[in-house]
Amino acid sequence: MNYVRNIKIIINLIACIILLSNTSYSQQICGTEFDSAMTSRFHDYIQNRAYPPAKKTTNTYYIPIQFHIVTETWGAGGIFASNIYDELCTLNENFDSANMYFYIYDDFHRIHSSGFYNHSLNSGTGSSMMHQHNISNVVNIYIVNTIEGNLSGGGYIGGYFSPSGDGIVIRKNLVGKTQNTLTHEMGHYFNLPHPFNTNNGIEYADGSNCSTAGDRFCDTKADFQNYPWICPYSDDELDPMGTPYDPDPTLFMSYAADACTERFSNEQIASMSNYLTTFRPEHLNYPTPNTTEPETTPNLNMPLSEETNLPYNIKFEWSHIPEAEHYNLLVSENVAFTLPIHDIITSDTFFIGTCLPDQRHYWKIKPLVSGNTCAEYSPYRRFYTNDEAGNLVNISMQNDITAKVYPNPINYGETVKVTSNKKITSIAIYDLQGRLMHTDWEHSSQTYSIATNNIISSGLYLLEITTENGKLFKRISIL
Ligand SMILES: [Zn+2]
Repeated sequence: MNYVRNIKIIINLIACIILLSNTSYSQQICGTEFDSAMTSRFHDYIQNRAYPPAKKTTNTYYIPIQFHIVTETWGAGGIFASNIYDELCTLNENFDSANMYFYIYDDFHRIHSSGFYNHSLNSGTGSSMMHQHNISNVVNIYIVNTIEGNLSGGGYIGGYFSPSGDGIVIRKNLVGKTQNTLTHEMGHYFNLPHPFNTNNGIEYADGSNCSTAGDRFCDTKADFQNYPWICPYSDDELDPMGTPYDPDPTLFMSYAADACTERFSNEQIASMSNYLTTFRPEHLNYPTPNTTEPETTPNLNMPLSEETNLPYNIKFEWSHIPEAEHYNLLVSENVAFTLPIHDIITSDTFFIGTCLPDQRHYWKIKPLVSGNTCAEYSPYRRFYTNDEAGNLVNISMQNDITAKVYPNPINYGETVKVTSNKKITSIAIYDLQGRLMHTDWEHSSQTYSIATNNIISSGLYLLEITTENGKLFKRISIL
């Protein structure tokens, strides 16, 4: 028993050390650097602005966003749609005082490239990704896994706006309800500098040179904190006159922790409005989106509440809501819906998908319209699967789909062939924990080959074969 207890103590110690090192390392900074065009536009604006700043417009600006979900080359690892929906609601709350409202322009665009999924800020990879994939006349946002960069002070790059690529990149772990990284980068997109900017000289703590130094806004306090900090400010930096700094932690454009930031200043808002209407007017040429939040939530019809002994390929069905354009289905093995097994956007009122064998599952549905992703999810329901794949063909809506997978079992390294009586449009491979191991799209033939090396190791897997007439599932064993 002592031995076990000692092990437990050691494990706890290790956990504490990991937690501590994470805390000191979880400092995200911003990778945005103004180019000469942004700098001169900002200079012109500051030179010509009226004092006090023009009264801001009472009209709402509706601004379309194209989200690009970047994944590993084999399809795994992309951010969950539900996180983007939460983020968009937060972004719109944060920009409410600026009368700017962002909405999803088109379906999420998926980019399957490990080289973009983890890329270096200094390599030019980000801007070449944007040159390849940007949609014209809308804001382009790329959500990736990591952004490498040369950081002398530690920490990591949480996001950046690239002037040369004209797009925003955000790390996926910083996209969600309580995250303000995208808000900060969107400020840069509309040409806001950091309050601690020193390119025009150091702003004095008393604000006496506020219009020529620092961020050149006089309603943002002098700020010397060009590294992440937690409010309230407790450092003792002095300005060149020997006066202590007292930076404002509430500004989104500062490096104060997200929990402290909550606003843009009036001068920042006036500057963003000016930049939008002067340099990005193409964003305003679209019809006003439907922003009415659906008030009712769908009823969950199938599977039944607390239903047990279900085959682990499940057909989900819910009721239609007249005001909804799409639905977001979340299926998870935990009630917090972290790392969901399915995170589906569909205009249908059903979905057929593979769940985990012998497992408890939760599911819920959020109704969506193009201009509003903030509706509540339905109350969740729970069901239990057995370890049977069930009569998969019968649940695939069309019962005339057949497919053959051979050889099966197959030796690792060999190529498995799939043939169907229908055109195969995509193939996905899941392990028995429900993790996506491989996906492939844009096929339109009745045969398909998968080389097992470099994709999966020995074990039992589930093939999800999607055809133009529906999908079915096959088990495959790799020896
Ligand atoms: Zn920044």
